[in-house]
Amino acid sequence: MLIKILLSLFIMVTSVFSSENVTIGVLAFRSKADTLKEWEPTAQYLNQKEPAYAFTIIPLNYPELNDAVKNNKLDFVISNSGHYVYLEKKYHISRIATMMYYKNGQWLDRFGGVIFTRSERSDIKTIDDIKEKKIAAVDAESLGGYAAQMYELLNHEMNTDDLNIHFTGMPHKQVVKEVLDGKADVGFVRTDLLEGMEKEGVIQLSQLKILNLQKSDNFPYLLSTELYPEWPIARMVHTSKELSNKVVVALLQRNIHDKPEEGDIGWSSPLEYSQVHQIFLALRMPPYDQPEVFTLTDIVNKYKITILSFSFITVVFLFLIAWMYRKNSYEKVYVKSILDASPNPTVVTNGEFLVSANKSMLAFLGYATLAEFKREHNCVCDLFEEGDTDEYLQPLMDDTIWIKYVIDHPEREHKAKITINGETTIFKIDASILGFKKRFRAIAIFTDISLMLNQSTSDALTHVANRLHFDLLFEHALHIAQREKSPLSVIFFDIDHFKHVNDTFGHLIGDDVLRKIAEISKNSLRKSDVVARWGGEEFIILLPNTPVIYATQVAEHLRQSIEFQAFDIVGHITCSFGVSELYEDEVEDTLLRRVDELLYNAKANGRNTVVVG
Ligand code: GH3
Ligand code: MG
Ligand code: MG
Repeated sequence: MLIKILLSLFIMVTSVFSSENVTIGVLAFRSKADTLKEWEPTAQYLNQKEPAYAFTIIPLNYPELNDAVKNNKLDFVISNSGHYVYLEKKYHISRIATMMYYKNGQWLDRFGGVIFTRSERSDIKTIDDIKEKKIAAVDAESLGGYAAQMYELLNHEMNTDDLNIHFTGMPHKQVVKEVLDGKADVGFVRTDLLEGMEKEGVIQLSQLKILNLQKSDNFPYLLSTELYPEWPIARMVHTSKELSNKVVVALLQRNIHDKPEEGDIGWSSPLEYSQVHQIFLALRMPPYDQPEVFTLTDIVNKYKITILSFSFITVVFLFLIAWMYRKNSYEKVYVKSILDASPNPTVVTNGEFLVSANKSMLAFLGYATLAEFKREHNCVCDLFEEGDTDEYLQPLMDDTIWIKYVIDHPEREHKAKITINGETTIFKIDASILGFKKRFRAIAIFTDISLMLNQSTSDALTHVANRLHFDLLFEHALHIAQREKSPLSVIFFDIDHFKHVNDTFGHLIGDDVLRKIAEISKNSLRKSDVVARWGGEEFIILLPNTPVIYATQVAEHLRQSIEFQAFDIVGHITCSFGVSELYEDEVEDTLLRRVDELLYNAKANGRNTVVVG
């Protein structure tokens, strides 16, 4: 008998020594002893399932857990969803399973937030009524007890800066107590807490009124917000795939027993945590709480259209709005109606997501409400497109969020290009800060300058680029070609004996020919090529990233297309072409002079021909 005991002890000891140690860090939001007690069965279960490893639970508070992850001291982490997204963003840990609780005869892997008041409060019917009321919430870092509710309010276009919130500290029950005692008007708690308290006999649900009540078929508790995934278990970057797969399999198998008991913990395949990221981003909670660093980097402003009087009015309007907005909340109502009355699309933003949008903006974007827009986009800047040159705003400008970039460069003209349903609009953007006491907020007014821009960049007769616009595009293309050492070619062409067309058929028919030739040219080019009217009956084509051999083929193809085109009334027409490629370190003037000479040679060689040089 003694030998048997000694032998099994020996086997146990050797197996512990020979097995690989695996550490699981768990967030201890109560005492470490309680956390250890709660999670020890999980470690034992894993040890029994995977005897080749020795699993240890290490209860850690927030800073300790952050530190342990940072210094690769753990193999797995179990923490709340909010903390998980922080660690995921910062240390690239990745979830492998999501926890579930067995409660009231059901496995639940999601939770949400509840917004409530006392049932007799007839002055508080919807969440819009909580604006000037005293709100109790557990903690500014709590997802179910604070962030979920705040996000819901943001989605209701409420200015969360103005809310009167006070934090009770743990536990959540304290919030309910304060609301029932009349110390607070409204409470934020996580789901299932109220039902639990009723079960304990501490409260009766009839004492409370739930605001913004959501209907969810698969969720059995009172709910005022969206649902978010429960705590995940995550592996570190260094944790081996083999080990993590074994842990996943073991955990998923754990809850397959017939009679789960109230309070049992199980695991499901990992849920999506992007919503949690979104909330934290919207509320600027960690890891999204760092102020953006602003770098003053000067970029060459290639393009300047001066719409001075227009800008002046916009800027005055902007300051007026900002001044009123800051003044007090009563006037904010006016601000909203003024903004809604404005024909200019206007937004209030923190640069990353839209806080508010006026009616013109929603109409332009094609959404009925801000919430609808937010379901598909975070920021209006998601829609900003790039242009042929770097003249248009992008979500990040020199590592700075677009709105801050606009505010910090008032001397420049800022433009954004947005296409909705195939129609492109160019906006001039003016912006001003509304406040940055608690959170950065700015207003941006969008002025549609498409028409003006179009008139100033394209040729009125042929609708291809005008010479001025060509000059800018050429300068930009030349810069890129020299920087990237890529080939750049130019085709210069002129209609043969065009004077004769005018003299014979009249100027109007001559104009038709010019229009048709512009159209044929556009159709025979790639999207990246640019055709412009150089003047009179001369056109120029810019072919970025194109060697002269290819440009010659393009010119030859165009020459034939024109030659074989039957023009109305006029019949057949021909053109003469000069083609050349940029030499290394060449300036644009000499390239243009060269193609002009080549075109002259083509004319001298009998016209309707392409001369390359
Ligand atoms: P070549 O083959 O040597 O180029 O002969 P050409 O007759 O085309 O050249 P020239 O430079 O002598 O004449 C150009 C003509 O183009 C003169 C002018 O009436 C015509 N033209 C320039 N701009 C326009 C325009 O906007 N509309 C029309 N209809 N004609 C134009
Ligand atoms: Mg001509
Ligand atoms: Mg000419």
